[in-house]
Amino acid sequence: MKNNCVFCAIAAGEIPSFKIYEDDLVLAYLDINPFSKGHTLVIPKAHTKGLLDTDNAVLADVIAKVKKVAAHVALTIGCDGFNILQNNGDAAGQTVRHVHFHIIPRWNGDPLTFENKKGDMDELAALAEKIRM
Ligand code: 5GP
Ligand code: ZN
Repeated sequence: MKNNCVFCAIAAGEIPSFKIYEDDLVLAYLDINPFSKGHTLVIPKAHTKGLLDTDNAVLADVIAKVKKVAAHVALTIGCDGFNILQNNGDAAGQTVRHVHFHIIPRWNGDPLTFENKKGDMDELAALAEKIRM
């Protein structure tokens, strides 16, 4: 696996993903163990570990795509709000060392938890089909 990295493998199409958005530089797909319905990850296709080793130009492009994808996900899924999360290092809970931004849809009254829940693959496939850009 390139860079021994699961997100590089997803970007290369070596591992399947529930794709929401793709262009030359960026890919967005559903988190397989979501915090909430529609939890989406946005990555630059080029491998870097986290925020600090990623070029500002790449970050500027990725955050513009995070905004675009979040707007679309929020509209199509009908959430009341969303979190953007980006973890760096073990202490911050980063488990995948390929820089990524989480888009976490939220609904009024739902618990504001940051906890992975085991995803149902059929549900994720159906959801990706519905909200794909
Ligand atoms: P971190 O804690 O590193 O910010 O978040 C990594 C996220 O990637 C977790 O929420 C985890 O569920 C998700 N994840 C880990 N492996 C895979 C995978 O193979 N496919 C997808 N779609 N998500 C993954
Ligand atoms: Zn990578």
